[in-house]
Amino acid sequence: MTLEQIEAYSPSTGSGRAEKGALALYLHIPFCTAKCGYCDFNSYEGLDHLVPDYTPALIRELELWAPAARGHRVDTVFFGGGTPSLTSLDDLRAITDGIRRHYEVAPDAEWTLEANPTELTAGHLHGMRALGINRLSMGVQSMHPDELALLERAHTPERVEEAVREARAAGFDNLNLDLIFGLIRHTLGRWQETLERVLALEPEHLSCYALTVEPATALYYQVQKGLLPEPDPDVAADQYEWTRERLAAAGYEQYEISNWAKPGRACRHNLVYWRAEPYLGLGAGAHSFFIGRRLANVDAPNRYVEAITASYEQRQATGKSTMGQVAGGEVPDETTLRADAMILGLRLLEGVSTAEFAERFGIRIDDAFGPAMSGTRASGCSSGRVTGCGSRREDCCSRTRSSSTCCRTTSRQTREASDGGPGLSLRPLRA
Ligand code: SF4
Repeated sequence: MTLEQIEAYSPSTGSGRAEKGALALYLHIPFCTAKCGYCDFNSYEGLDHLVPDYTPALIRELELWAPAARGHRVDTVFFGGGTPSLTSLDDLRAITDGIRRHYEVAPDAEWTLEANPTELTAGHLHGMRALGINRLSMGVQSMHPDELALLERAHTPERVEEAVREARAAGFDNLNLDLIFGLIRHTLGRWQETLERVLALEPEHLSCYALTVEPATALYYQVQKGLLPEPDPDVAADQYEWTRERLAAAGYEQYEISNWAKPGRACRHNLVYWRAEPYLGLGAGAHSFFIGRRLANVDAPNRYVEAITASYEQRQATGKSTMGQVAGGEVPDETTLRADAMILGLRLLEGVSTAEFAERFGIRIDDAFGPAMSGTRASGCSSGRVTGCGSRREDCCSRTRSSSTCCRTTSRQTREASDGGPGLSLRPLRA
């Protein structure tokens, strides 16, 4: 992939739809104060020395991609990690200025930043709000100290409550809180206590993920050695079903397997992933679906900084760039794009519109998937949508899974989509 290819790109050379219109920007901040035991995202502790070089690299990558984004309007910006709330206000200002300098940004764009309660301060929150960040996504996970210790999270439940109060005082009126259920030795009652305490904070959005013990994490090795039991999927299923009822009663609309929002507060950025629309991911390990390609940046932050520096200097010297930060990519064929659209769309309660699918791909869903759709009522559906797990039966044309099965799939895939892209064909990044 070269800069020439990017600059030469036009809708007719790509999948035929990436193309001019709305764009979602994802910026990956890979730094954390400590690596949590369950986390397999592209995040690192002990790399503080790289921070001074990382911000300029991100800004240079913004500049390198800018020619391809001409004519696009950025509707959502998402700072994911890692821990973006560790980023200094000066660095955040430099990055947000870079976005506004090089890209057309919608006046009502959604600007989300992921935050850890521990690192947030009132001054930082006011500063972020002044920079235009208008949505915070806070990693809470549990409101029980022993569960937070199991997950190796540094905050306390009281700190979560303080941080929410401080965020409100700073002017944030769009808050997401991330929670994890299906923990090791978890019970329905313990999860209910966490969720009730969080509901008292009246967040606009809640993401509830089932714990997955991911290979090569500290938690995985503890389970492998028999020091901890595996999570019980039946408990997780009970917790998930109760969660759906409780959040509906509290006025939250479930719009994705793991995501609930007050009316009008669904995460616009994450909807882009699930609707298989274009997004540009910048930073170490970030993924993109842009200019008709699925692309993945190099994971290691030091190699990312080196590659961006080389790409940028090459462009300055010759007007050309090999875009060496892109470690992998592919141009998905039409069959893959159709499958991606269905796999992602079925995560949403709205499902996939049969009419929009036909218009986008020039083929009816039943004809595209044939036997895979047999037994469903997609084609004759009065609502004109194919829906998957999570949908209420009365809203569905077809159901592909039971909700209790679905809840076991909510952790990794959804967190990836929430935090950095669906990672369908390439290795995904984070949440
Ligand atoms: S869970 Fe979040 S805070 Fe913990 S190591 Fe992973 S990215 Fe960092």
